[in-house]
Amino acid sequence: MAQKGILVVVSGFSGVGKGTVMKCLVERYDNYALSISATTRSPREGEEDGREYFFRTREEFQRMISDGELIEHACYCENYYGTPKKYVEEQMDGGKDVILEIEIQGALNIKKKYPETLLLFVMPPSAAVLRERLERRGTETPDIIKARLKRACEESEGIENYDYILINDDLEECVAKMHSLIMDQHLRVSRNLSFINEIRTEVKAFSKGEI
Ligand code: 5GP
Repeated sequence: MAQKGILVVVSGFSGVGKGTVMKCLVERYDNYALSISATTRSPREGEEDGREYFFRTREEFQRMISDGELIEHACYCENYYGTPKKYVEEQMDGGKDVILEIEIQGALNIKKKYPETLLLFVMPPSAAVLRERLERRGTETPDIIKARLKRACEESEGIENYDYILINDDLEECVAKMHSLIMDQHLRVSRNLSFINEIRTEVKAFSKGEI
């Protein structure tokens, strides 16, 4: 049977380009499934329900929480965001490495529930580059950009809880590095105990001349 997939949380400052990194990752390699979150925020231009997010009203979101449909949820810049449980568990059981692009509160809650989760934080090469990218995106008002930079400051306090940082300077390099970090997790001893035991048992049998 295929090894169960790994749960990977990718966080990063708003505007750092983590969406682009993940899009490339999923296009390039076929072992990934990207979870689609539910949110109460309004769709941005070009976003579609069921593709970027499941866009829900506050009442609908509340119902998802009460029905236990979300693994975690958090409030970010006055909107709610949450990770649907069913998709994540089905994909991991099927051997896919599931990527959650979520903010820090959610990341820490996921780590509590699934301690083997790999937590990755995408950093800009510099603070000035981050501000420039946010301004260039042009989808947000100056007030929203300010709120996101403020939130970025708060989030930078929590980076110590993550396993690795990745610097998104050169996109290709960042994608390759992310893939290689995730692949390394498949080789962790704790994830391979049944394979190790199988080999150990057979070697023992060989040594006794039983097979
Ligand atoms: P945006 O509105 O820019 O799409 O996302 C705002 C923030 O919410 C980002 O940091 C994004 O990673 C985070 N986010 C997206 N989906 C989820 C989720 O399901 N749970 C949590 N906790 N955060 C999420």
